[in-house]
Amino acid sequence: MKCPRCKTTDLKPTMIDEYLPAMGCGTCHGCLLSLLYYRHWAETQQPAAGPAGTQSAGATLEATDTTTAITCPKCARVMAKYKLSGRISNRLDVCSTCDEAWLDGGEWELLEALQLSHKIPAIFTDAWQRRIRRELTEETRREILTRMIGADGTAKVEEFRAWLAQGKHRSHILTYLYRS
Ligand SMILES: [Zn+2]
Ligand SMILES: [Zn+2]
Repeated sequence: MKCPRCKTTDLKPTMIDEYLPAMGCGTCHGCLLSLLYYRHWAETQQPAAGPAGTQSAGATLEATDTTTAITCPKCARVMAKYKLSGRISNRLDVCSTCDEAWLDGGEWELLEALQLSHKIPAIFTDAWQRRIRRELTEETRREILTRMIGADGTAKVEEFRAWLAQGKHRSHILTYLYRS
């Protein structure tokens, strides 16, 4: 099997984690992960409980990402791309026919830093992808509002909205505001 990224390099057996085998590329350090093995690993291995506070959500890691479409090294079909989160551009490539995922070099470490290394199947769900799109839309709308009314105004609006969401008089207040 050739690396789907480098095309000419052969994939060789490697270990992503203790008990988690994969086929790795020595050139780009990407690897092909059997999701069958992965699911067994995720069920039997607990997420590493590092000292509290060491895994900051804003961890920046050097992870490469193949932005162009790649084909599955096993069946040569184009692999589907799934976003990890709204803030990170990296996407995982998956072949649902072969039940294999392609991780670019550094992406496993990125998943660990985002505490997603045990949640890979969730990323491949419609619900996960929909949530990311919603977050992005929300963020874009907030940016537009900030450009129009400034950061202070946006903060006030956010505060008011949060307060409104908690209270039980929401509809009365909204009716009042719309009419004024
Ligand atoms: Zn490669
Ligand atoms: Zn395939």
